[in-house]
Amino acid sequence: MAIVIGGSSTCALCNEVLEDEHELVMTSPFIEDASSDLWRYSDAAFHKNCFMGWDKRKRFINTFNGYYEKHYRGMRVMDDEGTISDV
Ligand SMILES: [Zn+2]
Repeated sequence: MAIVIGGSSTCALCNEVLEDEHELVMTSPFIEDASSDLWRYSDAAFHKNCFMGWDKRKRFINTFNGYYEKHYRGMRVMDDEGTISDV
């Protein structure tokens, strides 16, 4: 899982600092293809507001879930709001 240091880590979407009081979305590493346009968003953190308004959000979630389906039999899923659960 991405490591966030409140007040110094930045949002991968808006590049603003992530503060402890912000609601965040964090991802574990899941993109193997470094040429993917989603590569830099793997193992990253976002403001929840930025994530919810992101035009690539649906594809990002599908890619995340596809990765876990393929490698871990779907033991981890990301919902529509970016919340990751172990199932
Ligand atoms: Zn942001």
